[in-house]
Amino acid sequence: MKKEKRKNVKVKKVVETRISNTPKKVELSEKILYFKDNMTIQEVADSLNIKSAEIIKSLMLLGVMANQNQTVDRETLEVVLAELNVEVKDEVVTDFLRYDEFKIEDKEENLVERAPIITIMGHVDHGKTTLLDAIRSSRVAAGEFGGITQHISAYQIEKNGKKITFLDTPGHAAFTEMRSRGARVTDIAIIVVAADDGVMPQTREAIDHAKAAKVPIIIAVNKIDKEVGNPDRVKQELSEYGLIAEDWGGDTIFCNVSALSKLGIDNLLESIQLLAEIEGFKANPNRLAIGTVIEAKLNEKIGPVATVLVQNGTMKIRDSIVIGDTYGRIRTMVNDFGKKINEALPSTPVEISGLNNVPKAGDKFMIFSDEKSARAVAEQRTHDTWKNEKTISKGVNLEDLFSELEVEETKDINLIIKGDVQGSVEALRNSITNIFVEGTKLNIIRSSVGTITETDIMLAKASQAIVIGFNVRPIATVRSLANENKVDIRLHNIIYKVIEELEQSLTGMLEAKLVEKITGQVEIREIFKATKIGTIAGSFVTDGVVYKKSLIRLIREGLVIYEGELSSLKRFKDDAKEVKEGYECGLTIDKFNDIKVNDIIECYIMAEETK
Ligand code: GDP
Repeated sequence: MKKEKRKNVKVKKVVETRISNTPKKVELSEKILYFKDNMTIQEVADSLNIKSAEIIKSLMLLGVMANQNQTVDRETLEVVLAELNVEVKDEVVTDFLRYDEFKIEDKEENLVERAPIITIMGHVDHGKTTLLDAIRSSRVAAGEFGGITQHISAYQIEKNGKKITFLDTPGHAAFTEMRSRGARVTDIAIIVVAADDGVMPQTREAIDHAKAAKVPIIIAVNKIDKEVGNPDRVKQELSEYGLIAEDWGGDTIFCNVSALSKLGIDNLLESIQLLAEIEGFKANPNRLAIGTVIEAKLNEKIGPVATVLVQNGTMKIRDSIVIGDTYGRIRTMVNDFGKKINEALPSTPVEISGLNNVPKAGDKFMIFSDEKSARAVAEQRTHDTWKNEKTISKGVNLEDLFSELEVEETKDINLIIKGDVQGSVEALRNSITNIFVEGTKLNIIRSSVGTITETDIMLAKASQAIVIGFNVRPIATVRSLANENKVDIRLHNIIYKVIEELEQSLTGMLEAKLVEKITGQVEIREIFKATKIGTIAGSFVTDGVVYKKSLIRLIREGLVIYEGELSSLKRFKDDAKEVKEGYECGLTIDKFNDIKVNDIIECYIMAEETK
């Protein structure tokens, strides 16, 4: 390991001077540190063959407290290492095993314009699919072969002699999934809003996703053929999210369309081209192709097939390819009309066959000059993935924030707030906006009423955000999704506690303390009223274990109705100390009788925090 790291350092010139009696090594601005993201101080020290204490000491002089296991950003390192005559340069990744991290910079003169790649997002039933269909059908009008039967999950159309690529996976689930895997394929997001329905929860989610990914947005106000529709109301509603129409003095393009009657489609396409021109999407067709998998599956007849998007370079038939951990030689290439083609230029979606295995959506691919090296790279990557499986998932948690803060100049902290009612969400938002801790910037990337859902967790994962739940509880499946993805969920029912916790973590004062540990979840199936005992709930343990001594929380439709403890727990007629998942039980809640069928009881204990 150490040996490998030292390879990063080049000693340009070392001059030995023996002017005095004591031989002294003088180094003339000689060392170079090839910096890579997330390098710890120890790794930097190892690379330079010096003691980590030297770096830590210099950092302290700059007022930065850090230990050897922490990371330091590039700018800080530059300052510190300048003292030690070390020059910092960005690591140039040339290791083909990490081909998906290559930063390819083509010379300006080799770049040509490429088609913009578009994703359509928006609330369910607002017309995403109809819009994708309407746009797709425009190519029949253009007289192209193949009709509107579409072969793969992306298509291209031509407008004014220029192409536009559409990813045909409506909804933001695909977008988020890709993003959380580090893939960036969308150049522009079209957010569809039905004029008769206005901004709805998934509209807001789509906006959050596009903004978090820094993808420019065009708003398509759909269903303008309907008399009840009110495009101005949509403008008004969206202005609250910072999306202000051009005719209202903002810079967001709004297009009125009717996907059903195919009205306004031309204008929408022209707007896409206008925005694409401003953004200037370019690629170099004269290089070996790189790109991303949109979708992949096993075809019974021809084996693994993948729909890929060529993002740079030109992909040719019989090219040797590595996709994630898979490889092969491209046997067939089929375009979106189902037509066999021999080469695919930048921004073209194609379906390829000839792979040894089915890759994953979001995997990046690269063409290699020969099959042998492609195979060697893929096999080594398979081995490495297998070895690293446990450590790849990335999330953030509040405890680790402070240590990260110490080494970064300004840390952006993303938060997602979910609360039981609009009032509490607003109050929390305001209080959080007023938190000021030097060196930190709190960004609320989503705040809405409702319980914590899987989409919240996916957004948190993709944006490295912390989820704050106020008087709401995630159900077991959401909680385990969060655990799997190492997303930190903080649940509270008092505003100042949220603020206190955030402030403490930002100032590094979050102490080890008793935390609640959820042990199980129970669903209420039947209710019995007994005059002396009160309400007995015939229940089923759906997750984990319920203990007689459990503290409990009664949840109805995602909202916390009551918090307290059990007064009895029975299996059939006998008292039970605990009942496990998959078993029925009867229970009563201490001092609380308003239990209803379908209520959920969350059982927890207070335990010392284990990291
Ligand atoms: P998606 O869930 O966003 O993909 O929405 P769909 O494309 O499936 O459309 C939902 C419903 O709205 C369907 O019944 C469509 O026919 C209808 N619809 C879509 N666009 C329009 C439109 O421009 N005008 C009218 N009147 N109805 C539309």
